[in-house]
Amino acid sequence: MAERKIYDLIIVGGGPAGATAALYGARAGLSVLLLEKMVLGGEIVSTERLDNYPGFPAGITGAEFGQLLEQQLQRHRVPVQPVEIEQVSLKSETKKVFFATGEEAARAVIIATGTVPNLLNVPGEKELLGRGVSYCATCDAAFFRNKEVAVVGGGDAALEETLFLSRFASKIYLIHRRDAFRGIKALQEKVFSLPNVEILWKSTIQSIEGEKKVEGLHIQQEGRARFLPLQGLFVYIGRKANTGFLGDELPLDEHGFIVTNDQMETSLPLVYAAGDVRRKGLRQVITAAADGAIAAAAAAQALAVL
Ligand SMILES: Cc1cc2nc3c(=O)[nH]c(=O)nc-3n(C[C@H](O)[C@H](O)[C@H](O)COP(=O)(O)OP(=O)(O)OC[C@H]3O[C@@H](n4cnc5c(N)ncnc54)[C@H](O)[C@@H]3O)c2cc1C
Repeated sequence: MAERKIYDLIIVGGGPAGATAALYGARAGLSVLLLEKMVLGGEIVSTERLDNYPGFPAGITGAEFGQLLEQQLQRHRVPVQPVEIEQVSLKSETKKVFFATGEEAARAVIIATGTVPNLLNVPGEKELLGRGVSYCATCDAAFFRNKEVAVVGGGDAALEETLFLSRFASKIYLIHRRDAFRGIKALQEKVFSLPNVEILWKSTIQSIEGEKKVEGLHIQQEGRARFLPLQGLFVYIGRKANTGFLGDELPLDEHGFIVTNDQMETSLPLVYAAGDVRRKGLRQVITAAADGAIAAAAAAQALAVL
């Protein structure tokens, strides 16, 4: 039987963090394997525009950015396997990752699996998912042309996606539980200037109503019950780390994020974390890419002295 290959470096997740780690690892001469369950490019691929990444003066669509990353990985001959990692074994010298159809092994691993959206956890949310309830305006806004929708949230993502939706929907209720947004000032000002956006401060969603599709929301607005008849709800209330597949292999912080030092090292030798999945201040493409570069460089350095 042929002996199983042990890579120098396996990277789980092909978003900006994982793709950058793969590039830096390959260019450092490591044998690298990148594992991605969906599309290369990660979360940003499903957003309309990336306007704040240096070097793209006119901005770039998320989809184009993903394609460019993919081309760059191809040029550096990084092998990519389209699998979802379901389990890992990270404590031994040879690290293993397991997926439905097999397993792969490496001397070092970088976890770069990003985050998933938080759910509202109100009645109707699960039942009406894909039937008016969405977590991605860029993917679904076109279905709501000339319709009334709500966005819930108060950070950058909620504001960005409200701006995007305002080109399609006839009216947007922007529902926020506090009396001020967390998102950056420039985005807030743009949202405040939109004629088709009504901001509902100090408001929470109690339930989502509808038989086959969303027909309206029961909300509490400043303590009073109100019904909003509408056809869509876009949820942007934060995100949680994609770490379920790690089991007890790696300690997480109280919110489920991986704790690293500034070399992206976790508490296990030769196990690193990069990007949104780790505990950090600013979750953006540029910081994810920077984490990936640092993690791969740290792994290359550690492997060189073994
Ligand atoms: C609506 C919205 C708008 C945004 N706008 C901007 C912006 O304008 N500018 C900006 O800089 N940032 C923006 N961001 C943030 C940016 O998208 C993230 O910070 C960045 O994508 C993080 O990169 P990452 O590689 O850490 O994670 P991700 O991009 O989340 O990539 C993680 C990858 O891991 C894969 N994966 C997860 N689990 C597994 C598994 N078990 N096995 C295999 N693969 C797995 C996922 O499929 C995914 O491709 C936005 C985010 C959102 C949600």
